[in-house]
Amino acid sequence: MDKQPKIYIIDVTNRDGVQTSRICLSKLQKTMINLYLNEMGIFQSEFGFPITHHETNYLNANLELAKMGILTPIRLGGWLRATVEDVEIAFSMVSQIKHLNLSISTSEQMISHKFKGKLDHDSVIKEMTEAVKRARKLGAETVGVNAEDASRTNMDYLIKFAQAAKQAGSDRIRYCDTLGFDSPFTIYERVKLLAKSVGLPIEIHCHNDLGMVVANSVSGAKGAVDAGCDAYVNTCINGMGERAGNADLVAVILAIKYANGIRDRYILDERINLKVAWKIAKYASYAFGVPIPINQPGVGANAFAHESGIHADGALKDRRNYELYDFEELGRGEPEIIETGRKITAGEYSGIKGFRNVFEKLEIEFKNEAEAIKILELVRYANVHNQKPLVDDELKFIARYPDIAKKIFKMSP
Ligand SMILES: [Zn+2]
Repeated sequence: MDKQPKIYIIDVTNRDGVQTSRICLSKLQKTMINLYLNEMGIFQSEFGFPITHHETNYLNANLELAKMGILTPIRLGGWLRATVEDVEIAFSMVSQIKHLNLSISTSEQMISHKFKGKLDHDSVIKEMTEAVKRARKLGAETVGVNAEDASRTNMDYLIKFAQAAKQAGSDRIRYCDTLGFDSPFTIYERVKLLAKSVGLPIEIHCHNDLGMVVANSVSGAKGAVDAGCDAYVNTCINGMGERAGNADLVAVILAIKYANGIRDRYILDERINLKVAWKIAKYASYAFGVPIPINQPGVGANAFAHESGIHADGALKDRRNYELYDFEELGRGEPEIIETGRKITAGEYSGIKGFRNVFEKLEIEFKNEAEAIKILELVRYANVHNQKPLVDDELKFIARYPDIAKKIFKMSP
């Protein structure tokens, strides 16, 4: 018997998340998210835009971290338009990039009203296949092809498009429900038919415009697996993403692990470690400046809170009366220590004394004064860069990898 297909996660916080209106991350924050995603055992981080100039140093520095064995085994994937020109620019700017997703619109709506005669159905396929071939030739180890607005694309055309992508050398097809138009029922049938017809792993990329994003993502993954193909669910931390957002990373994992009809029947990438959930959700919330709603699955303040008499009594007698999963599994339960007395913070105008105090508390020692001054200077830049107090993990990252940090902060328009 063939081995059963699996469900993997490709997190797109550093791409869809940051391209969202009113939402931004500094390059250091993007790096920290890559590190946390790696610690969490996530298959791939879509870590940015290889042809965008202000990303170049960050992308190259993160690929260097991968080479050093620090950002591994996670794959770092870049997002591009599916054109030969963009592929060539990407490899000239980020020469070591190994994983790409190439995107082009496939729906009647977008081909007619976005390309406006510049491309028709046939030339969309031609443009995409040439881009895939060029990416392969230039050294891409994996290429995913994104059908933008796949949910509003004629199914016969979508299959033809995906078959052409496969023939050109694509490893996966990204089914994009760009507008959040699908329902769990339609996405299941469409992805299943697509996977069966093409025989390639399918990425499920959903949006939350109708409030069904997690259900759609899981249904789409089920469709691919039922057709005998691996599924790769696209997520964003805390459900960030364009407009009403993408599928929340933690909620998707919880749904696959615990939902009726999914648990025990579908295999989630075994490397995933939910213990990092609390840390990554809190960090992203701080970095984005967007609070976690108290009712957010798994990581909201109320996710394990009980007050009403019957619920509290029931949960205390046996947690399974009112909880499907354990808070410990999500890395919750440890007290968080907040300094309530004097606190010295490291900022963009810090001096060496205060700075040494901050690092002593983190139990980081410097070889000599020169090293301390060098790290202090980088910490000042990091503060200019983030525009908010650095968290302990960021300070430790800078002290541990000063040369990488320096590259991340470097920007020259
Ligand atoms: Zn999207």
